Amino acid sequence: MKFILHATMEITPKPLIAEVILETGTLLNIDRADVKPSGGEVVIDVHQDEYDTVTAAFKKRGATITPLEQPVIKDEDECVNCGACISVCPTGVISFKDDWTVQMEVDKCVQCGACVTMCPHAALKIDK
Ligand code: SF4
Ligand code: SF4
Repeated sequence: MKFILHATMEITPKPLIAEVILETGTLLNIDRADVKPSGGEVVIDVHQDEYDTVTAAFKKRGATITPLEQPVIKDEDECVNCGACISVCPTGVISFKDDWTVQMEVDKCVQCGACVTMCPHAALKIDK
């Protein structure tokens, strides 16, 4: 299950992720990280059974958590199945079905935003 970890300037210098791994004994997958001295945002994937324990450990350290149930959303009324979004996706979320309509495996999405920029019909949006 994915979530966004938001860290403020005050807690960014701390080894938050390492501390949470050590405390909970849980393996985390970091899908995307955008961390600067002024603060950061990290997309983390963790097994559903460990979600509550891990997010509680981050919150205890001052981080804010946003669950990512539907990381990228496609407006079916706007999508014309042109496929422009397929080649820019770095994680293979988007593909054509046998009938040449576009399908998405959103659990692979890391919210890079490339498909949103590429779509000529503004059919995609990132759920923040
Ligand atoms: S936001 Fe990035 S990872 Fe997610 S579907 Fe779009 S291109 Fe792929
Ligand atoms: S780029 Fe936009 S319109 Fe084209 S297939 Fe992707 S979501 Fe649909």
